[in-house]
Amino acid sequence: MTEAYDRDNVFAKILRGEIPNATVYEDDHVLAFSDINPQRPVHSLVIPKGAYRDLTDFAENASEAEIVAYVRALAKVARAGDVTETGYRVISNTGADGHQEVPHLHFHIIGGAPAGPMARRMDVDADG
Ligand code: 5GP
Repeated sequence: MTEAYDRDNVFAKILRGEIPNATVYEDDHVLAFSDINPQRPVHSLVIPKGAYRDLTDFAENASEAEIVAYVRALAKVARAGDVTETGYRVISNTGADGHQEVPHLHFHIIGGAPAGPMARRMDVDADG
């Protein structure tokens, strides 16, 4: 069973204006802002304005307009960060094994320096 959306998660609070954010892009369906704990010089978080817990929830339940706006926003945020030429990484952690901390769908856009290996091997990093 899919867990219910938690309306008190930190990104829901950002969307309601209860917590400030450094906005880098916004449209009718999407908000993007700087990560509070950046892992590289450019580290933006792209979130849908709708209440979607993760990528599975969004892909299965969002409208086509929301999905199109979201995917297009990923490139707009990369352009805004000036990383399209040098390259960047897009990450969406999902659920427990994905180490998702905030239960509102978000894609990380990370760039401005080499991102490093995609993921550590299980035998090197067995407990995550
Ligand atoms: P996750 O592990 O869920 O993929 O990533 C959650 C991200 O949200 C982390 O990179 C963390 O630094 C970021 N984050 C958590 N709380 C806040 C906040 O209040 N504001 C911002 N801008 N980022 C946050």
